[in-house]
Amino acid sequence: MSSVELRVWAVEQAGVGVAVDVAAVVGQAVRIWATAGVELRWDGRVRDARVSSAKGDFKDVVLGELAEQVNPEITANGFGWVDVVLLPRLWNRWGVALSLLTGASAGNDGSFAPFTGPVVLVATEASVGAGDRPEFRADACAPLPDRAYPTPPVVLGAGNDLAHELGHVFGLWHTNVRNRHLAKPYTLQGKHVRLLMHETLHTTGEKITEGVDPKRSRGNVAGTSVELDPLTLVTDHEGWCVVLRGEALLPVEADYARKAVDEGLVWKGR
Ligand SMILES: [Zn+2]
Repeated sequence: MSSVELRVWAVEQAGVGVAVDVAAVVGQAVRIWATAGVELRWDGRVRDARVSSAKGDFKDVVLGELAEQVNPEITANGFGWVDVVLLPRLWNRWGVALSLLTGASAGNDGSFAPFTGPVVLVATEASVGAGDRPEFRADACAPLPDRAYPTPPVVLGAGNDLAHELGHVFGLWHTNVRNRHLAKPYTLQGKHVRLLMHETLHTTGEKITEGVDPKRSRGNVAGTSVELDPLTLVTDHEGWCVVLRGEALLPVEADYARKAVDEGLVWKGR
């Protein structure tokens, strides 16, 4: 099995700490990637970091503050591991991957700047949107009413987001990207939302209007329990439910990710 080490950080942000079960969130991501033949190794240690900003704007001071604390350990990395940074809040997003493979860096495309190795950030408590309005995971994640989840929905949501961002580190693009390198794009509809690399409907209303009527989302996901189990659901302020992303990886995605891990997370063979 392909194997990569995770170093996990829990960030205290403006005096507020990560309140979710870190081991459970990481465990959810570990479980998802194990199904794709990628072993995420974590020794159980949670490293501490602190930032002053309450929002966590990844273009703001937060990345710089985090980089100062995380980079000294990354310097000797050689991309032998991925740093996983859990923090309460991020600005206008639930997660971000800084990875050579995605060009999703905060600085220039194809760089990790201001970090010196691959880093994944995931907001555990809230995504802060326009007008500094926080959208809380606790309000946003809800299970189907007739279904018992073994893991709290908030943990599923954060864990799936962590697994998704790691997918970017391993070179995977969103399933709806028109020119994506591995398979034809999917539209933001129907059962495809159960895919891990589905672009989330978390925060942006304009994305929802592009292709999905959230009022019909519950109907869109009608299916067998096998299909529904991996899904995380969300309710918005108006009471409707939309599906964020599930856990399923396409075989071609799993193959690609394993190769990236085996080659040290620097494989660029698109
Ligand atoms: Zn993404």
